[in-house]
Amino acid sequence: MKILTILICKLLVIAGKLLGKGSSLPGAIALKLCPDILSRLSLPENIIAVTGSNGKTSTVEMLAKVLQDGGKKVVFNKEGSNQIEGVTTLLLKSATLTGKVKGDIVLLESDERFARLTFRHIKPTVFVITNLYRDQLTRNAHPYRVAAAVQDAVDLVPDATLVLNADDPIVCDLAKGRDKVIYFGMDRNAYSTEVSDALFNDCHYCPRCKAEMVYDYFHYTHLGSYRCTGCGFARPETTYTVDSMDFESNAITINGDPICLEFASKYNVYNLCAAYAAACIAGLVGKEVARMLSAFVMKNGRIVRFTAGENKGLLITSKHENSTSYNQSLGYVASRKEASTLVILVDAISRKYYTAETSWLWDISFEMLNNTSVKKIILTGKYAYDLALRFQSANIQTAEVIVEPDLDKMGQLIAEKTDNALYAVTCFSDKEKLFDRVKVQGPVAK
Ligand SMILES: [Zn+2]
Repeated sequence: MKILTILICKLLVIAGKLLGKGSSLPGAIALKLCPDILSRLSLPENIIAVTGSNGKTSTVEMLAKVLQDGGKKVVFNKEGSNQIEGVTTLLLKSATLTGKVKGDIVLLESDERFARLTFRHIKPTVFVITNLYRDQLTRNAHPYRVAAAVQDAVDLVPDATLVLNADDPIVCDLAKGRDKVIYFGMDRNAYSTEVSDALFNDCHYCPRCKAEMVYDYFHYTHLGSYRCTGCGFARPETTYTVDSMDFESNAITINGDPICLEFASKYNVYNLCAAYAAACIAGLVGKEVARMLSAFVMKNGRIVRFTAGENKGLLITSKHENSTSYNQSLGYVASRKEASTLVILVDAISRKYYTAETSWLWDISFEMLNNTSVKKIILTGKYAYDLALRFQSANIQTAEVIVEPDLDKMGQLIAEKTDNALYAVTCFSDKEKLFDRVKVQGPVAK
């Protein structure tokens, strides 16, 4: 049955490619035919899994490229199908008919809630957890619900080395009772703040004893340097550290190794640091990893240059239902020195399911756009009026706010000649709607 299942899966992958279908279905059918197929595979010694609310895909993409450039043969889920069906498709299509997965390293992007299903069958040797934020509340509810699911996954792999973001207390709480833990994080720098950029703090109280947490500084949301006033739970020392960061010159160092950025955001720097850490743990040399990361061009198209009429624009793809993602994007636009027009497009909240739930708009710190170089804000898409209501509350005094639900009219507005730099913020679910109305130039490096 194993051979037949692998064969059928491979054929379905080929058929799927011809039909342009997604990558989960062959795995789903394989799991129906042979529910324990994953346990019957012979896997490489090194299996790296990456999970977290944000940054999984980017981290996996960077890490895969660095490992490949470092001479490793890497099996990884390029399409980002990160639930058990997608992982099954990936492994079976990379396997011989006898079930041997060909490669030095399997690199898995794992859905944070479903890693616990995949890990029943596949035991990662390294488990990287980037962060845990409020995200897709329609599906995930609260971040602690997600943390509990990740804890289940962690418990399934007692021998794995955990690679954790030291700056995120919800993530670090997962290390309790574990010996093999390696931390990455960001030192205090010129961009650290006394007060978080978020309107809420999901870790105001200790995840272990519920006493109050104090923060020496924040990087964003609940990420920063923290300690519990009750049990002493505190930010651990980091092995892999962003030790300098200069967004003026688009340069950072990790463990003293310089890396150039094209898109300067802390958010992105965490992904780089996670990839750097995992690559070093896989046996690569830090200096080489930094050199490769500097040269890296992201394929997932999160940051895309475009033109609208004669105006040059930059899309910063963000995640709807994820205020941290939005805050980082808005923070980037707000920090620019040149006068700008900002388009915020919310038309379909999710690409995976239908929801009209917009409470997440109230978690986003739109207030940060006040007193900045942003001079015009265009709210567009089906939820333009939900955005407008939120903006009424944000009371932006220093920019003209235009509400234009019609996407074609938005396209005409942004093509009007202006001296303003143009930025667009929207989700994967909606970015094609922008692309249909502008001219895409291409992705920014990372
Ligand atoms: Zn505590």
